[in-house]
Amino acid sequence: MVRLVNPSRWVSWKPFGIGEQHPNNFAEITRAIRENRDQAGYAWRIISQGVCDGCALGVAGLHDWTLSGPHLCNIRLRLLRLNTIGPLDGSILADVRTLQGQSSAQLRTHGRLPYPMVRQRGDRGFSRIDWDEALDLIAGQIRATTPDRTAWYLTSRGIPNETYYVAQKAVRAMGTNNVDNAARICHSPSTVALKATIGIGATSCSYSDWIGSDLIIFIGANPANNQPVTTKYMHHALAEGTTMVAINTMVEPAMERYWIPSIPESALFGTRLVDETYLVQTGGDAAFLNGVLKHMIERHLVDQAWIEAHTTGFAELADHLRATSWDDLEAASGSATDRMRSLGERIGNARTAVFVWSMGVTQHRAGEETVRTIVNLALGRGFIGRDKCGLMPIRGHSGVQGGAEMGAYATVFPGSAPINAETAAALGKQWGFDVPDKPGLTAPEMIDAASRGDADVLVAMGGNFLEAMPDPLQVEAALANVPLRVHIDIVLSSQMLSEPGDTVVLLPATTRYEIAGGVTQTSTERRIMFSPEIRGPRIAGARSEWKIFRDLAARVRPDRKERLAWTSTQQIRDEIAAIVPAYDGIQHLRKTGDQVQYGGPHLAPGGHFPTASGRGSFSVVDARSAAIPAGKFALSTRRGKQFNTMVYETHDSITGTQSRDAVFMHRKDAAALGLRDGDRIVLSNEFGSMTGRIFLAWMQPRTVQVYWPEGNVLIDPAGRSPLSHVPDYNALVTIQRPNESQAAD
Ligand code: SF4
Repeated sequence: MVRLVNPSRWVSWKPFGIGEQHPNNFAEITRAIRENRDQAGYAWRIISQGVCDGCALGVAGLHDWTLSGPHLCNIRLRLLRLNTIGPLDGSILADVRTLQGQSSAQLRTHGRLPYPMVRQRGDRGFSRIDWDEALDLIAGQIRATTPDRTAWYLTSRGIPNETYYVAQKAVRAMGTNNVDNAARICHSPSTVALKATIGIGATSCSYSDWIGSDLIIFIGANPANNQPVTTKYMHHALAEGTTMVAINTMVEPAMERYWIPSIPESALFGTRLVDETYLVQTGGDAAFLNGVLKHMIERHLVDQAWIEAHTTGFAELADHLRATSWDDLEAASGSATDRMRSLGERIGNARTAVFVWSMGVTQHRAGEETVRTIVNLALGRGFIGRDKCGLMPIRGHSGVQGGAEMGAYATVFPGSAPINAETAAALGKQWGFDVPDKPGLTAPEMIDAASRGDADVLVAMGGNFLEAMPDPLQVEAALANVPLRVHIDIVLSSQMLSEPGDTVVLLPATTRYEIAGGVTQTSTERRIMFSPEIRGPRIAGARSEWKIFRDLAARVRPDRKERLAWTSTQQIRDEIAAIVPAYDGIQHLRKTGDQVQYGGPHLAPGGHFPTASGRGSFSVVDARSAAIPAGKFALSTRRGKQFNTMVYETHDSITGTQSRDAVFMHRKDAAALGLRDGDRIVLSNEFGSMTGRIFLAWMQPRTVQVYWPEGNVLIDPAGRSPLSHVPDYNALVTIQRPNESQAAD
């Protein structure tokens, strides 16, 4: 029964949560109006007509395909100014020393990049250059080296499918598969594990499956913070009787309680979202999920008939889990047997369930294996391919789903086809030129190559290697080791100011809303949405990124120019439809609200998997990792008031931290160290150290969290998952009081 008002889920009787810790979404609206008042009409047209350039939940204008009513959040409002701000004064770049001390947040406020600029080694700063000169310079350097010594990294910042498609084809036309995008450092383990087990590389269900499902399990995910409109979906799910639980190293405040501004009941009294959080230690989720399934097998709570009809490998996995002791699972998960049994009961007694996971699972060297344990649970109950069920690796950034599907990825071609001689030959036949048949450098490998002196050209479209990758000092040295760096972006970022190897070129890009002919973006639920060009002011010297790649490739490989001769985004969509069959329908999208969900609401409908056998396969994952060594803590990195590396505020209104040096820690751990809330501490390991302040939180003991990217100094730059090469943003650290000089910092 749908409950219209549900006081049992209220957080507080105090109206609007006065005195409680929570984000003030109404203040965010006021702030956005103030920031964009010089372009109020344009800002409104972007909000009301465009596809959001924030996260990958997906909305066109103010409406989505899950619920009626307005869809808007503070992330979108914060990003709005990047689209409406005017050009910066180019003279501020004449001497970069004046900018080098500024944070990326300060750098963005200077405005949009106004025209192409160049800086040679020894120059104090950048000087203006025209587009033809800039492209000739870059093309000359690319021609002067070999394709394998060039590297191309594309971020997910607002980048549409059309740009990804053109960029990867242009790079391959120039002779290399060294093209990668931000999906690598978030959900590549999900894609690898899903493909290997059930033959799909994307979310299997739709957001609407959340609402009315018996159970939603969030694993290493905090969508209330990162995809805020999901709180609305959760509220409606609760109204339809859905139970929600989380598995995490910390009880996330936003998942515990949220004031949803567009739902009057919630805006007034707040909503308690998840029913229960199961705490695990960092890296302990695979062992925990193994324990959950072990219990379900012991108690005959798996769906044996479905398993026999639709899967392989269950008997082997069941034998492995029976032979794994609860003691081992407790040591590896940091959780108690009764907690694993508790979740096993919930899943085993649910008729439907959706599994949602994110970076807490994937950004770990065991990311692929952990995703396999999630798949095991879904297969154990047949929670896939039907209503109110599914597997959802929820995506963080707007362009990230389409990036890999368009082939802007070092390890796959368009359509997520693996790279080998056969697929390269087939693609080469369609494109009309030879396509390289070996996988290229992944994003972390590009930095490795730069460090070794094996990269002569590095082109970065958006992003910020300096802040996104572990070990910033090593990354800075690597960047300075590349003779030519090209940064294509809309605003300044700190990596642009790093010392040139020989030359650094800045190329100003347009936003997605300025691209003539409109563009498309794919959401987490595989929905390809059309975002039209939006009338408004333009930066005269900026160019659409797809044109930059087209024109560059034409200079490097004039013999292939005719194969890259698009003149409109419609032509690009026509080609995508021909090359990527799953995207058929993209060519017909014309206006706001036009969309197509590839694969339909459910992939693998009826449990028929697109694998060679037609079955899904269980995986044996031996998750009995070593416990946290005595005297050490397991550290994870987390996000605050930020969008990827763009930090908006040092104060995090959801957790209540006042500064970015907060170290989230359990009360017992602080007491054991003789420390209290707010005390300064030094975290250190073999990679570096950072000074922070204790912030007491509801954590798994012996596990701490610090903000990212600040915590990158503690991260092993070589720590990656074995197959997908996602960096492991976790570490073991020791914690001490600061010495006198550190205490005085
Ligand atoms: S939840 Fe995501 S898609 Fe929706 S408005 Fe916010 S940032 Fe945009």
